[in-house]
Amino acid sequence: MTEFDYDLFTIGAGSGGVRASRLAANYGAKVGVAEEYRVGGTCVIRGCVPKKFLVYASEFGRGFNDAKGYGWSANGVSFNWNTLIENKDNEIDRLNGIYIRNLKNAGADIFQSRATLKDEHTVHLEAEGRDVTAGKILVATGGAPWTDSSIPGHDLGVTSNDAFHLDKLPKHVVVAGGGYIAIEFACIFKGLGCDVCLVYRGEDILRYFDTDISVQVHSELKRQGIRVVTQTKFEKIEQFDGDNKRVHLTNGTHIDTNMVFWAVGRKPATDGIGLENVGVALDQKGAVKVDEYSKSSVDNIYAVGDVTDRIALTPVAIREGAAFAETCFNNNPTKMDYTFIPKAVFSQPPVGTVGYAEHEARHEFKNIDIYKTNFRAMKNMLSGSEERVLMKLVVDGDSDRVIGCHIVGDGAAEMIQCVAIAVKAGVTKQQFDETVALHPTIAEELVTMREKYTPRI
Ligand code: NDP
Repeated sequence: MTEFDYDLFTIGAGSGGVRASRLAANYGAKVGVAEEYRVGGTCVIRGCVPKKFLVYASEFGRGFNDAKGYGWSANGVSFNWNTLIENKDNEIDRLNGIYIRNLKNAGADIFQSRATLKDEHTVHLEAEGRDVTAGKILVATGGAPWTDSSIPGHDLGVTSNDAFHLDKLPKHVVVAGGGYIAIEFACIFKGLGCDVCLVYRGEDILRYFDTDISVQVHSELKRQGIRVVTQTKFEKIEQFDGDNKRVHLTNGTHIDTNMVFWAVGRKPATDGIGLENVGVALDQKGAVKVDEYSKSSVDNIYAVGDVTDRIALTPVAIREGAAFAETCFNNNPTKMDYTFIPKAVFSQPPVGTVGYAEHEARHEFKNIDIYKTNFRAMKNMLSGSEERVLMKLVVDGDSDRVIGCHIVGDGAAEMIQCVAIAVKAGVTKQQFDETVALHPTIAEELVTMREKYTPRI
């Protein structure tokens, strides 16, 4: 019999917390989980899943247009935002129910409450007005959209949390940022018929990606009519002409809009949960500092997922949660492997990428070979769309190993999941070359790139 109420108490029922809790319970631990909002966390409730529904919705507009060249006429087509939001919400409710059921079926107790740490073994449940104790505590509180509060009028803007429940679609949107969320929502809003202006402080959007991806996505955004303003920031936002906003930029210009959408990053959710009181070390961004086993600076307190600011992706949080449960409740010390994690940006067209960007590879390896191609996909020949596909392989010239693959184009996210298996397994360029192409597909170009790319001087 343990001296605590629980063997494990998890704060936050998102992807990482739920996976860790379920596995620990399956291994025989007595598990409690507190969630202040909705079980499922950012990914299910107000992140990846609802976002993907909006992405699907926004792709139809382009589809109707493309269909004309194939003989279809789609006159009188209309779009209803409220129908989309209602159907999306129904599906999110269904998934939320599944997450709750799965936790309960594993034997975990769920508390609908904000939880704070009183000491390293005691959690206070605010909604219940009582404390519970636990041998181990897992902090899986995720992250939240960050807005720049130094900008006057910053609170006149919305974030991705709000975007899933707008009363109506604005006619004009200004998006701040050049990362995942900015690019994805710029494309969603544009695809649904809004005028979109994206304001980015740097030169190249998606700057953590391979430069060819940044350039390609930038030009695809412009091609579809998204205005991209770079190297400037918001100076202030003012209420203007009723419910509209005037955004003043540091370059001296201003933009009038119906909605300002902040997408300038997310912040680990560590405020006010008592971590400082028990000596859990945080980094400069407020993320929980952890070791390779997700253990914090306090021996019995662990953290997984976005709250640790390692790689803020759902499948990573899930794996970190699983590794934690293996380590702490199955006597099997397990480290998360962060190599060759595939990533996607659900822009239009989407991005799929795995491994080293060219600039990273040139830094890490002596001899790098680049293969790349840029073409109009077959489907666009009849539709008349000028959208292009980019594919790029980064190869270690010494071992012939493919260490990076980057795709912008229809199906990129789906393709990269499969390519990632091969890249993770150590595939060589020769093995790509030996693979017979599947014709006619976009993906076949991945195995038909023969010429090394040499930059023109
Ligand atoms: P990102 O880190 O991707 O992008 C943040 C953007 O905001 C960057 O362009 C950054 O500029 C800019 N920025 C930061 N601070 C300021 C500032 N003070 N003023 C103006 N601009 C600023 O964050 P996101 O919020 O888009 O996404 C958060 C994380 O969520 C991602 O890193 C990703 O891990 C995850 N995510 C994944 C998705 C997917 O898998 N498809 C989708 C959505 C999110 P700069 O480039 O100059 O730093």
